[in-house]
Formats: sequence, structure tokens, C-alpha cells
Amino acid sequence: MSRVVFVDRDGVINVDLIGDYVKSWDEFRFEEGAMDAMKILTDAHYDIVVVSNQAGIGDGVFEEEALWDVHQKMLAEFEKHKVKIKSSFYCLHGKNAGCKCRKPETGLFERAAREIDFNPSETFFIGDKATDIEAGKRFGLKTIFVRTGHGAAEEPKLQGDLVPDHIVNNLAEAAELLRR
Ligand SMILES: [Mg+2]
Ligand SMILES: [Zn+2]
Repeated sequence: MSRVVFVDRDGVINVDLIGDYVKSWDEFRFEEGAMDAMKILTDAHYDIVVVSNQAGIGDGVFEEEALWDVHQKMLAEFEKHKVKIKSSFYCLHGKNAGCKCRKPETGLFERAAREIDFNPSETFFIGDKATDIEAGKRFGLKTIFVRTGHGAAEEPKLQGDLVPDHIVNNLAEAAELLRR
């Protein structure tokens, strides 16, 4: 039986350009160990679903076409390494658009739930921001926080309702947790 895992993109799969967006493929760099981690998840029969905020589109920082170009090239790299991505869901709205999908809102997970079968309480979401943890918890997912990307700076925010199920250094460690 397959199982689903949700993975944030920037700061988890690829290096987050803190304060800027990945606006083209030459700005995209995989996090160290991320490719191997994604392969481990693939081989452990996870259906990997990418969920990512890209407010730079809605806020006019870069073009949607550029986002899809980066996305397609990322998928091509995954394919080369025999990593399978089940699906990807992006929020393209601006930071202040008040949409229902920009994390910590749960719209991306709701969209996923319309297409993919999963039980939230048995499904993990891996992210590097407190808002990822918040979104995951609101939707009833289990959460894994990584210290890459914004993680190290955001870790102090993980208090009270925002305490994740696991805190690990990076996606490689998250995959080690999940492979069992
Ligand atoms: Mg992120
Ligand atoms: Zn949105």
C-alpha cells in the first residue's frame, strides 16, 4: 500500500534564497542530501506531494512561466534519479492577497485531498517554517520540522500549538525517520 508524504519545496528540497525567490533554474540548488532523501521516500513507497507558497508570482516579482520552467526542470532531475513525485500544489497568490491556500492556510492540502487518498492523521508534512507546522496541524497532519532553509531561525517559534511531531536537521534525516 502506498502512503502519502507532503514536502515543502524551498528550504527543504532546494536551498531557500532567504529574502528572495527562486526565479529561474540557475538559482535552483538542491539541498545537500535532498535527492538521496527523495529516493529513499520513493523506494519506501511514499507518494510524494510537493506543497509550496510562491507569492513572488502574485506580488509581481517573477513570472508564472518561470515558476513552471523551474518546476519542470526539478521534475526532470528527479526523474533522472528515479524519484517519483505524485503531485505538486503551489499557491501563487501574493502575501497579502488573503487567499485560502497560502500556508498557514490549508487550501493546498484541501486541493490535494480532492485528488489523492490519504488519512491526514497518518500523513506527514515536512517543512522549514513555523507556518508550515501551523498549516499541517490545522489540517490534522503529522509534522516534521527541518532546520535547513528558514528552519534554524524559525525553530524558537515552535512553542505551544506549534510543537511539531519531530524536529530534524534536514530532509535526509526526515527520510530516515519515515523509511521504517
Ligand atoms: Mg520552505
Ligand atoms: Zn493562495
